Amino acid sequence: MSVNYAAGLSPYADKGVCGLPEIFDGPEKLKTKVETLAQLIKDSEYLVVHTGAGISTAAGIPDFRGPKGVWTLEEKGETPHFDTTFEDARPSLTHLALLGLQRAGYLKYLISQNVDGLHVRSGFPRDMLSELHGNMFVEECEKCGRQYVREKVIGVMGLKPTGRYCDVVRSRGLRACRGKLISTILDWEDALPDKDLNKAEDASRRADLALTLGTSMQIKPSGDLPLLTKRKGGKVAIVNLQPTKHDKHAHLRIHGYVDEVMTQLMELLGLDVPKWEGPTICESSTASIESTTDVKPTKTETAKEKVKKDLIKEERKREAPSIIEDGSAKEETVSVKRERAESPVGINDKN
Ligand SMILES: [Zn+2]
Repeated sequence: MSVNYAAGLSPYADKGVCGLPEIFDGPEKLKTKVETLAQLIKDSEYLVVHTGAGISTAAGIPDFRGPKGVWTLEEKGETPHFDTTFEDARPSLTHLALLGLQRAGYLKYLISQNVDGLHVRSGFPRDMLSELHGNMFVEECEKCGRQYVREKVIGVMGLKPTGRYCDVVRSRGLRACRGKLISTILDWEDALPDKDLNKAEDASRRADLALTLGTSMQIKPSGDLPLLTKRKGGKVAIVNLQPTKHDKHAHLRIHGYVDEVMTQLMELLGLDVPKWEGPTICESSTASIESTTDVKPTKTETAKEKVKKDLIKEERKREAPSIIEDGSAKEETVSVKRERAESPVGINDKN
């Protein structure tokens, strides 16, 4: 499927400020700023990272408000250029560096506005990630909230039914759930997913450092979450080429390519950037299910974690992942239970 997900959304008038000129810090200035960032991270106890479309442009997926962004070009009556499909897109260096930061224990929570699925496919633990605008590869049961991460994009947007049904069997002998599966991709007026938003807000309040990567923070409420960190006495560091809506609130602003900044940062922290070995799904930071390759947890397990992990494994054995036939390709699905509150909170006004 083409990466032109924007074409699947409803028309919407106010898409924010588009096409602002990019700013580039010189090499020396950049180096000094990244050193400051490394120190902030070392001094932090609870780092939360917020990512936007700017971290996926290196993966061939256009952003929205950059000089060649989807909405910037739309204003000029032009169409964006796509270098890839969502299925073929590889996580950028930044996606993998974030995985490295998580494994090293620096990164405590990741909040993304991206729908390209690259954080999940890079193997970032889903229980430490909020995808506030949905994920092209994830469909969800309307009835029980179970999510299915697919190998291929769902192809439906705006929380609409995908045509498939939930096959969760809760206990032996009972019928499967059979709830309708719906897309997790939000359209302009859709409310944000409750669980992801609540977790993102909690993490933002708890954080003493919010690092934003490749987002102009114009979309509410996602773009305002770093301000929760600041309100609680934490610091905000921004990495973006264009000016952002919250530049005035930042303790540090770095104007450079995110991949360049992350390369220097990982070096300063003495960390390796994990290698990409194909799509890998990791459900939990303490236990993992992989769709294609093994994720090798690098953290030492405590006895408590081990017990939890074994329990989760047991649980998963009982709820064996379903295999479905989708055209010629056989895909293994990984599912996770998800609570869903009755009434949505927060309106995604996307202005
Ligand atoms: Zn269900």
